[in-house]
Formats: sequence, C-alpha cells, structure tokens
Amino acid sequence: MAVQPNQTKRLNNPEPWQDPKVKPYVSIKNLTKTFGERTAVNDVSLSIYKGELFSLLGHSGCGKTTLLRMLAGFESPTSGKIFIDGVDMTHTPAYKRPVSMVFQSYALFPHMTVEQNIAFGLIQEGMNKNEIRDRVDAYLKLVQMSGYEHRRPHQLSGGERQRVALARSLVKQPKLVLLDEPLAALDKKLRERTQLELVNIQEKVGVTFIMVSHDQEEAMTMSTRIGIMNTGRILQIGSPTEIYEYPNSRYVADFIGSVNLFDGLIVEEKSDHVIVKSTMLEKNLYVSHSASMPVGAQISVAVRPEKIMLTTEEPKGDYNWTGGIVQDIAYLGDVSIYYVKVNSGAVILVTTANFVRAAERSIQWDDKVFLYWKPESGIVLSM
Ligand code: ATP
Repeated sequence: MAVQPNQTKRLNNPEPWQDPKVKPYVSIKNLTKTFGERTAVNDVSLSIYKGELFSLLGHSGCGKTTLLRMLAGFESPTSGKIFIDGVDMTHTPAYKRPVSMVFQSYALFPHMTVEQNIAFGLIQEGMNKNEIRDRVDAYLKLVQMSGYEHRRPHQLSGGERQRVALARSLVKQPKLVLLDEPLAALDKKLRERTQLELVNIQEKVGVTFIMVSHDQEEAMTMSTRIGIMNTGRILQIGSPTEIYEYPNSRYVADFIGSVNLFDGLIVEEKSDHVIVKSTMLEKNLYVSHSASMPVGAQISVAVRPEKIMLTTEEPKGDYNWTGGIVQDIAYLGDVSIYYVKVNSGAVILVTTANFVRAAERSIQWDDKVFLYWKPESGIVLSM
C-alpha cells in the first residue's frame, strides 16, 4: 500500500531547522564508526532540534543502531563529535549523559512490579520516598497505566509493557530519549495505536526523541523529520512530506512507498520544465521543474502510483501518457494496485482509491487501458 505522510498535527508546529537563529539541541559532526574493516557509520553530520521526534530510517545493517548507540554512549566513535545542548559529550560515559534509551525488548526487570520498575532509577539517584511516589504516579498517569502499579511485567500486554518502559525512561526527566525500534514487538493494530500515543506523550513532555526504525509507515506517521540512511551515510533529511514528495535520489524514492522510475535522457531543459525521452514509454515525459542538468544527461523520472490516472479513453496531448494492458490487480480494501504492462514490456503501478465495490468497477484483468499524469507529478532524479 502506498505510504502517505500523516502530518496533520505537526503542520502547525514551528520548524526550528528552518530558522538559522535556533541552535540545534543535538549536533553530530562528521561521526564515523568502524568495526575492523567495516564502516558502520560513515562521516555523518546531523542537527536535531529541541522537541523533535527525529527518525533514523533505513534497511537492516545501514548503521542506524550504531549511530544511536554512539549518542547513548554505549559505543565510542572512531572519529567525529557529539554535542548535546551545546556540551561536547563525545567521550562522556553513558551514565553521565542526559539521555535515556528505550529498547525494543522493553528491558523491564521481571521480578519487580510496574511501580518498582519505574522508581528504580530515582531510588538509585537517592531521591526521597515521597518525591519518588509523586513522580511515579505522575508518569503512570501520563502513560495511562495508573492502577497497574502492583503488576509484574509478565502480567502486562506488549503495549502495556512498552508504556511502562517509556515511563521508566521519562521519569528521570532526561533531555533526550533514544528509542530503538520501540514498537517492533507489537502487532500491527496495537503498533498503530501506540505510535499515536507515543507522539502525544512526547508532545506533552516536550522532550526530544530520536528513534530508529526500519518501518517507513511508522517513521512517516510519527516524525517531525526523517534521516534516510544507507551504508553508513545519511542520504536525505527532511519532513515526511519532503521525503515522500521530493526524494533526492532513486534510492530514497524507491525506499519510501512505491514509485515508478522511468529511466531516460533529458531532451529539453528549461528553467521551468524538463522533457525526457525514456525507452520505457512511447510518449516523452514532461516534468514541470528545472533539473539543473544538461540535455543528454541520463536521469530517472519518479512518478508515484497514486499520481497516475487510469482510463479507457485515449488521452490527448504529446506527453505523460501511455497505453497498456492490465496484467494484475491487487485489491487491498481501501485501494487497488493495477499493474499495467506497456508496449516496451515495462510494468507501471497505478493506485486507485476504491470508492465503489469491486463488482461495480469497470476496469478488469487484460483490459486495454490508458495511463496519464500531470507534469507536476514527476520528479527528475539523477542516476
Ligand atoms: P538493523 O536494522 O538490522 O538493526 P542497523 O541499521 O541498526 O541494522 P547496525 O546495527 O548499526 O545496523 O550495524 C551496521 C553495520 O555494522 C552492520 O554491518 C553490522 O554487522 C556492523 N556492526 C554493528 N555492530 C558491530 C560490532 N559490535 N562489531 C562488528 N560489526 C558490527
């Protein structure tokens, strides 16, 4: 299913990264970590602002956990620097950093009650009993777990355990919370609900979250900004909308949601448009933005499946359409994905919203159809 950014709530938030006067809360400068021959994190520089929920997203092995562990102080960098709230923390031991970590496995103490789990860090700090009780009560309320204080972890559901783990990490009022795939152990429904709860809690306490995920829907739903990683490097940083609508590379376009990539050559380049000839299509592609690349440059044009219209009538005009045969239809309930084979043999994906019931829909397998899209629906990406 096409992933769509869900930014309804965040759109009203200020965007501190756009304001040069605002200082970043976490500054990562040229951070590298090598394990023997392997470079897990490669010269990463990144600024994260107070109150952000920043996600590091990428395929398994791209280096996101190593980056998070360096922020926590569990791993020391090979080179580069980490500043938190303006203080150089590169060589500060984990226990002295104003940072708390939430693990995928929750890491609750099984023999302790919910209350004891949450209070543990405060007792170690030597806080007095009354203060601890008040603080634990407040954080139980925050994560909606009041009344569960005397249960042990095995008497809780996965979602409840996750909320206790979150309360335990927030109760010490850290400046920065690091979350390593915090929802990965939950089933899909619970995960979706908990994503929103987590965002609400984070907004309430106003603490900065940095989260590692390989689940793009999760990162799109929750984050103020996302950093897409591949082979130890950050390829693009942006809001969910920017990453989805304006990917800066084939890798990012392909990684986030579904995309059709038409490889071709620029045949015309102007300040407000580009015309591209692709062997995958009979008609040329017209893209309504400049590409800052010369005529003859080899590029790809990315078009999202939901931006392509499907019809049985031949479109007019010289650009951005093709005929084809419906090869397959994947019915996903709310949407259907049509796999349309065009003359070149390429298969183009088209997503349509299912407004009417399946039996009433007119376009079926093996039908001859036409596809078209607007000039602003394409994005030119360098190869
Ligand atoms: P995943 O989503 O699977 O957790 P990741 O993006 O978090 O992956 P990392 O765990 O950061 O990836 O690992 C990045 C690379 O560094 C991998 O190739 C991994 O094998 C390697 N690596 C990580 N930790 C160590 C270590 N302690 N010793 C040697 N190699 C390591």
